[in-house]
This record gives sequence, C-alpha cells and structure tokens, in this order.
Amino acid sequence: MDELILGRDLMICGLCKEEKGKLIDSHFMPAAAYPHVRGTEETGNGPPVLINLRKRSAIQTDRQVRRPLLCASCEDLFSKNGERIIGQLWATASGFPLLDLLNSEAAISKGERFDMYDSRLLDADVVGSIFYFAVSIFWRAQVWDWGYEGDAYKRALGSHYESQFRNFLLGKGALDNVLLFVNVNSDVDTSAVMTFPISGRIGADRLHTFSLLGLKFTMYVGRSISAVTRKPFEFHNTQIMFVSSDLKKSAAFQKLAGRVQSEVEAKGKLKASPANKFNHSRRP
Ligand SMILES: [Zn+2]
Repeated sequence: MDELILGRDLMICGLCKEEKGKLIDSHFMPAAAYPHVRGTEETGNGPPVLINLRKRSAIQTDRQVRRPLLCASCEDLFSKNGERIIGQLWATASGFPLLDLLNSEAAISKGERFDMYDSRLLDADVVGSIFYFAVSIFWRAQVWDWGYEGDAYKRALGSHYESQFRNFLLGKGALDNVLLFVNVNSDVDTSAVMTFPISGRIGADRLHTFSLLGLKFTMYVGRSISAVTRKPFEFHNTQIMFVSSDLKKSAAFQKLAGRVQSEVEAKGKLKASPANKFNHSRRP
C-alpha cells in the first residue's frame, strides 16, 4: 500500500476488509443482551459485574464494550444471521425460550447431571443462527482492539482460523475442525450472566468459551481435537451439540465461584457495599 494514503483516516471494515466511509460503533456483545444481565444475590441487583480473573478484579459497571469494527452491511450480516434469532432465545426474567424449545422438540435423554438433545430435531435456521452467533463472537474476540482492558482472549484463534472464521461469516465457506458445544443452564437464578471469551487447554483439546444469558458456548478448534471430544459429534453427525444442566450444581461453576471468592479483589462500588461477599478475600 502507498504510504502517502496512510495519513488519511482509512476506515477498513474488519470483516469484508473493504474501505468504507464509516464504520459502525459495534458492541462486543449484542446491545440487546445488556438489559438482561443482572447482578447476582451476592452483588445485589445493580449493574452487571464484569469479572476479569486475569487482573483479579471485579468491576461493577454498566459500560458496554464497543469499538468501530464493521461496516453497515457486515453489521447487518451479523444481525440477520445470528443476533436476531439469539435475541429471541436467550434467558430473560420472563423465560428461556431455547430451553423450552429443546425440551419440547429435541430431548433424547434425561440424565442425573445433564439432559441431552439432538440438534437435528430443531429448526435448521435456529441451529444455524446459534452456530453463526458463537463463531462471530470468537472471531470478534480475535480481532478486537482490547486497549487498556487487556486481551484476556490472547488472540487464541490464531491467524489461520481467523481467516477461516471470517470466510464462514461472509458466507464464503464451511468451517472444518470446529465443534460447538452449547450448555443451556436450567437454573433461573444463575442465567443472567455474561462472560467474555477466554481460551484454554483441556488435555489435547484447545477450547474457547464465553457465556451469555443462560448459554455457555464451548468451541473446540483445530485438527487435533481428541477422539473422545469428536465422538458424540460424529455419532449425531453434527457440528453443534446441546445439553442442559443446572449451572449452580456444576463443577465449573463451583470452581469459578470459589476463585471469585478467594482471588478477586473487589473494586469500585463493590468495595463500599457491606453486603457483598466479594469483599471477603479470605484465604485458607
Ligand atoms: Zn464490511
């Protein structure tokens, strides 16, 4: 590129890579989700609490994370293919349409710890939108300018999958070696939660997770996804699987709650409130 034109205020859309006159000030998570995120019993019913374990801080805020990233037509693509349908399915104070839909149309086994569903029994558009939405959030985490907040996701997708995800989101190709596990929380009290994408390893698998209003998305990415992980997906001949469980009873939630209690130093409003348990950073 000619260096001379770098002086101009170039607006390149992160998705289509075209130069546009104006980019939309995009939200990281759908704007419609924020009003439904509530404080927990511990934090009171104030604004949502963003928990950043890397910085060991809990900051109570209703600030919405936003950056100019997409042109109007790509923003519209995200809305049309993912956010619009997700926004009709997630958990709010008035109900949890996706959980109802799964239980009425796709239940295949009821277990003590979790219930399992066959995603092929659901409307293909619904399933496609949930998959598209999850892909769009992980892609966004990869290309986002995290600024001073720090990048908790650490560009974990890598450049190869960044471009694969981008092609998929533009409707230019399927995604190979990507499996999505959606854990639907059957507990109303712990569903009003939003967590931003992080990535880690469990055994041979690299997995990527985030949660939004009763939905916990776990995406496995890469050619080295273990046979154990692939097996249920192959058995059901699908790229997306749904289970539901009571998050309050799950080991992962207990562990997170434990970490929050013991490691997180409360900041801001939380510190002033005598009622919240974030203040007690007691160590055994
Ligand atoms: Zn664009």
